[in-house]
Amino acid sequence: MERTQTEFAFELRCCRWAERVWPPAESGSGDRVIVARQLGTKRRRWDTIVLECDPEALRERAKFGRERLDSDLLHIVRNAPTAWTYYRDCLPEPGYPWRYVREAIHRAADRGILETRKSGNRIQIRRKWPYPDWLNRIVAIENKPDLDASAARALGSQLEYDVAVSLADAVWVATRATGDSVEPALFEDLPIEAGILTLEPETLAAEVAWYPRTLAVDEPGTRILERPDGDERDRSAARFEYVDPEAKAETRLAIAERAYERGWRSFIETMRPDCRHFELRARDGDQLEPYCGANERCQTAAACSSRCADFEPEPPGWRTRGWPIEGGPGKRCRQLLEDRRRRRRPGR
Ligand code: SF4
Repeated sequence: MERTQTEFAFELRCCRWAERVWPPAESGSGDRVIVARQLGTKRRRWDTIVLECDPEALRERAKFGRERLDSDLLHIVRNAPTAWTYYRDCLPEPGYPWRYVREAIHRAADRGILETRKSGNRIQIRRKWPYPDWLNRIVAIENKPDLDASAARALGSQLEYDVAVSLADAVWVATRATGDSVEPALFEDLPIEAGILTLEPETLAAEVAWYPRTLAVDEPGTRILERPDGDERDRSAARFEYVDPEAKAETRLAIAERAYERGWRSFIETMRPDCRHFELRARDGDQLEPYCGANERCQTAAACSSRCADFEPEPPGWRTRGWPIEGGPGKRCRQLLEDRRRRRRPGR
């Protein structure tokens, strides 16, 4: 049986491919790439995200640590001055109570990314480093290994949403290569702004079937809130709202910071590596893929949960005897993936 069976397994292969060879056609931009998965906004989550980053600025970003900076921390580190200043005199009006800003200042100081001191009763702040402009482009990829007409219909409206709001610089669909002279995905009703990429998950050979259009991330976007359901008797109008470019820029940076922290190997955090059937199997000598010994396949995060009927806790003996390396296999799996995530993150 072919090894890449599920959409989840295909998604992991797509992430691996992107990490290795992005961009699909050599642009010579020299950007560094960070790949993450299952990130986005409250309304829209993308399967795979590729961040194209300025290499020098990315090294500067690494000074702020491996964890993401949330919007409160970003508000501070992006506006902190070079000379000691009372925080209310240098930070822009936050739009929420100042006590939350003070809490964020303490968090930033605890993380070692901001300098603080007291002058009388007043907290003064000074920046340690300028927060760099490290993100060049966000590329969103939807993975649909088997892109039949009904999958294309469902995906089509999601891609229309992406194109209208233009939060990512480009959106792609990755589908399994069929070997046909014209890839069937080209006949499906997808927005022409979306690129189509065919990927052979076993060998990671990829080809561009259709190039995407660059989306207008610096212009106002349109968020589609509701649309007629397609029934000819449905006379309702679609509902939209506008998203201003500043709000989009904030959201893009928040997504990028989350992607920076998580990468794409964090799947283990939503699985059960403490199950005795859980394994990590190597592919290409580098990629580690989850594997369920009970079901003899690469399992999805939805299947590998506390609701799984085949779940069996790893025996306590595995832990007490330090199998195979301290902490039992569950801990060891986490450690392995964390090591790889760290190795791939530039600017350590
Ligand atoms: S048996 Fe269930 S919980 Fe255990 S590894 Fe397999 S899918 Fe995960």
